[in-house]
Amino acid sequence: MNKEEQHIYDLIKDIPDPEIPVLTIVDLGVIRKVERVSDDFVITITPTYTGCPAMNQFEDDILKTLKDNGVSNVHIETQYEPAWTTDWMSDNAKQKLQDYGIAPPQEKTSDKNYIIGKEKKKVICPQCKSEDTKMISQFGSTACKALYQCNNCKEPFDYFKCI
Ligand SMILES: [Zn+2]
Repeated sequence: MNKEEQHIYDLIKDIPDPEIPVLTIVDLGVIRKVERVSDDFVITITPTYTGCPAMNQFEDDILKTLKDNGVSNVHIETQYEPAWTTDWMSDNAKQKLQDYGIAPPQEKTSDKNYIIGKEKKKVICPQCKSEDTKMISQFGSTACKALYQCNNCKEPFDYFKCI
C-alpha cells in the first residue's frame, strides 16, 4: 500500500461490526485490499456470512465513513472467491469475542478433518471458562451463531460458528 492507500485504510480500519461492536472490519478480515486506480480508490471486500444481513452493512459504513472524511471517489468491489471463512479472524478478534461473552470459533475450516457443525474441540464457556458445555440450538441470536449452555455456571451463551 502506498501512503494514500494507507490513509484510506486507516480511516476505515476501525469500522465496527454492526452486530458485535467490539470487532472491527480488520479483526474480521473483511478488507482484501485498498488500491488507487487512476482517480479512484478501489476497496475490495469479502462479505462474511451471507446469512447474516447485518454483517453486510460494511459496504454502506465504509462509504459513509469515507464521505464524512471528505473522500467520495471510492468504489467498493466485492470478492466472493475465495469465500470468507472464520479462519481469517485474528487471534486478537477471537479474544475480543470471548471477552464480549461470545465463544469464538474453535476450529479451522481449512483443516481437512473439519466437518461443518461437528466441533471436535470443546466449546469453552466465555463466562467461567468451563469445557462442560452443550449445544441448545444450531441457531442463536443470528444464523451465524449457535446457542450453547454451560453445565457449570448454567449460563447460556452464543457460539460464533466456524464456516
Ligand atoms: Zn460457564
